[in-house]
Amino acid sequence: MGSSNDSQVRLIVFGRQGAGKGTQASRLAQNHGIPHISTGDMLREAVREGTDFGKRAKEYMDAGQLLPDDVMLGLVSERLSRPDTSRGWLLDGFPRTAGQAEDLQGLVADGGITLAINLEVPEDVVVDRISSRRVCESCGTIYSVGDPSADSGKCAKCGGTVVQRDDDTEDAVRARLATYNEQTAPLLGWFEAQGLLANVDGVGSPDEVATRVGAAVDERL
Ligand SMILES: [Zn+2]
Repeated sequence: MGSSNDSQVRLIVFGRQGAGKGTQASRLAQNHGIPHISTGDMLREAVREGTDFGKRAKEYMDAGQLLPDDVMLGLVSERLSRPDTSRGWLLDGFPRTAGQAEDLQGLVADGGITLAINLEVPEDVVVDRISSRRVCESCGTIYSVGDPSADSGKCAKCGGTVVQRDDDTEDAVRARLATYNEQTAPLLGWFEAQGLLANVDGVGSPDEVATRVGAAVDERL
């Protein structure tokens, strides 16, 4: 499009759990020299530090609820005003609702959001990736079925017991994906209606996917 009046790159990355979102978001941010801002990490940090905001955030998180739009916007707005965002930013975990997306677009009115990338990985692929994951109870090393440590149940690094986490079973993964789809579909629809959505095939090696993501962004710059 190239319609931005300034040179900031403002990106948002979406992807279901297991789609490689974190990896791709980090690489993309690094390639453009912009901060990778994960609102999930910011919230967890605030909770850990026990700030007033963190205490308030914890109440919502404990209840399994999203924080109110105005609270999230305040948090994001403050973060996006810091000096390290002079060349732009990449948001991961925000917006979560179409209302938040509209607020964000209003916040960066000059030039607006550059692009929202939706990493597409078929549900069965994601379920397979996550449900084949095993973890060492002692040192936390992650293995995959097929690896000797996963198959024997004994960690090659520390000798600890390698198990499947309750969260990683097929049923648990499918339940989380259903919730994600329900919450995210209207949001992706909003970006699509604004002409700001790029659906990128997320199947393949991290390098292959990064090449596709990079091409989608370059098309807009
Ligand atoms: Zn271990």
